[in-house]
Amino acid sequence: MATQQFSLGLTGGIGSGKTTVANMFAECGALIIDTDQIAHQLTAAGGKAIAPIQQQFGPEVIDEQGALDRKKMRQLVFSTPSAKQQLEAILHPMIRAECEHQALFGVGSYPIFVVPLLVESGDWDKRVSRILVVDCEEETQIARVMQRNGFPREQVEMIIQVQAARDERLGVADDVINSDQDLAQIRQLVNDLHQKYLKLAQAA
Ligand code: ATP
Repeated sequence: MATQQFSLGLTGGIGSGKTTVANMFAECGALIIDTDQIAHQLTAAGGKAIAPIQQQFGPEVIDEQGALDRKKMRQLVFSTPSAKQQLEAILHPMIRAECEHQALFGVGSYPIFVVPLLVESGDWDKRVSRILVVDCEEETQIARVMQRNGFPREQVEMIIQVQAARDERLGVADDVINSDQDLAQIRQLVNDLHQKYLKLAQAA
């Protein structure tokens, strides 16, 4: 992908503001491709990943509607470490293919792949032209997710703990948006970056 056209990978920890920033880029005219959304579609009832998942793990992980039973799958991954790799071996190529399809056929000035676990999984760094990290203080993440999801503090801290460390994420960043700022300031930064990315996309 990176060799054919300009593309951006957008990442950040839980509650960092990825969706908020992606929506602002969409308003500018970029094409947003959300890997979480794709994963959900693949594992919803009738999704392409359901048959291979059922074949791999048995009917126990499929709910009555025919969708992946996330709770059961989480338990399985917890009790059987190899299950995570097996699930990823099914999902990652499908997510990749769908991303490529949307990048080819979607409408927008350049594609932005929103990949929450960009640092943790796969070879995204080699597949995109640039990486934009949405960053904020850990306390901001905790407060936002507690408020948005109604999670207790310890649960949010645990999720942050298993995700890539802030420094690790910042280490792969070509550009950073600090989302501790107010939305008007972030919008200005998005506008400026969009102009830069448009030039890079035209040059590619
Ligand atoms: P997740 O990975 O958990 O889906 P995310 O990184 O996509 O989260 P958002 O959903 O964009 O993050 O933001 C998390 C919450 O914080 C939302 O309720 C959003 O409205 C709020 N938020 C994001 N950025 C800001 C900001 N700069 N000022 C105030 N609130 C913000």
